[in-house]
Amino acid sequence: MDPSAQGNALPPRRSGGLSIGRLFGIEVRLHFSVLLIFGLIAYSLASSTFPGWHPDWSPGLNWGVALAAAVMFFVSLLAHEFAHSLVAKWKGLKIDRITLFLFGGMAELKTQPKTAGVEFLVAIVGPLMSGVIGLGSILIAAAFVGPNFVENLQADPEAAMKGLGALPTLLLWLGPINLVLAVFNMIPGFPLDGGRVLRAILWAISGSLSRATRWASVTGQVIAFGFMAIGGLQIVGGAWINGLWLIFIGWFLFSAAKAAYSETVVRTSLQGHNLSELMDTGFEFADATDDVEKFTRERVLHRSQSVWPVLNNGALAGIVSVDDIAEVPPEARALVQLGQITRPLAAVDFVDSNLPGTEIMKRLAASDYGLVLVMQDHRVVGLLRQADVIRWLTLNAGA
Ligand SMILES: [Zn+2]
Repeated sequence: MDPSAQGNALPPRRSGGLSIGRLFGIEVRLHFSVLLIFGLIAYSLASSTFPGWHPDWSPGLNWGVALAAAVMFFVSLLAHEFAHSLVAKWKGLKIDRITLFLFGGMAELKTQPKTAGVEFLVAIVGPLMSGVIGLGSILIAAAFVGPNFVENLQADPEAAMKGLGALPTLLLWLGPINLVLAVFNMIPGFPLDGGRVLRAILWAISGSLSRATRWASVTGQVIAFGFMAIGGLQIVGGAWINGLWLIFIGWFLFSAAKAAYSETVVRTSLQGHNLSELMDTGFEFADATDDVEKFTRERVLHRSQSVWPVLNNGALAGIVSVDDIAEVPPEARALVQLGQITRPLAAVDFVDSNLPGTEIMKRLAASDYGLVLVMQDHRVVGLLRQADVIRWLTLNAGA
């Protein structure tokens, strides 16, 4: 048996959410927060926006158009993400899935752009797509409402809106909202699209990805503070909802900019290094036939190792942790063998010792114990925890 193959056969850990299918070989997932936003959009359109425009519409018609509009909103978000993804694929980058969540979408690139030009292109096509959908919707609506619509709107707004059919009504909501999306995404706050565009430009000018990332991240944090400050002023001025919303967006942008920066630092530091340089090789194995009491007395107390690969007749059987041992009542420990509380191989995260260092943070974040077993020739040759990576970075980063 090849334990590393078994490791790979485990269902990949997911960031949460619901898979709704594949398109162009890319999985589309909905984060659960999307259901909330979908409900909010449909409800506010059906109960307030559309009845305001069309006092004569029945509740059924209001809800029908509102639900269709909410669906079209998410279709346009998907189109935005697919624009990023398909250009990325075309440029040879790997992309597994698109996740729609509270603040829109996220195309999860598995590989990062190799040049500033590619990064620029991948980043800018999303907002361009939103802009095209926005303008397109407004133009199609214009074809429906006729050339006099704007004049009528100025003369008697209520009557002009009232005369709109269901489709132009939907399009006149969908168009502007997509233009807002295009503009919002072009805010130069990394990791928003605009921040990526800014980083690509700085990258092209400076020739250094890490310096460009630092500048783009600082710009992103300044803009995030701007959002929070304006939100604060609005709250002082009595506009609670708007103010809180801006502070929320600012806080989100701030933490995203910081996280994107440290992720880049880690990745560039680990570039060109592999796991065999990072892993802990001073670990011990446990024997499945040892009783828990003896193992605790001789091997757990006074040591720092907290997870052990367990061998049964020389073959790897699984792992056992201090937490697993703690679940056995002290009075029962002499009667229980380690093999009985060993977690099976299927629960263990394996990686190959040749795995590039840049992949490791992702694998660690996805592992159940915050620990992976490093394999070489079907043998465990090392353990790796976040702490090992941090120690390595302390010694090597910044160089
Ligand atoms: Zn985007």
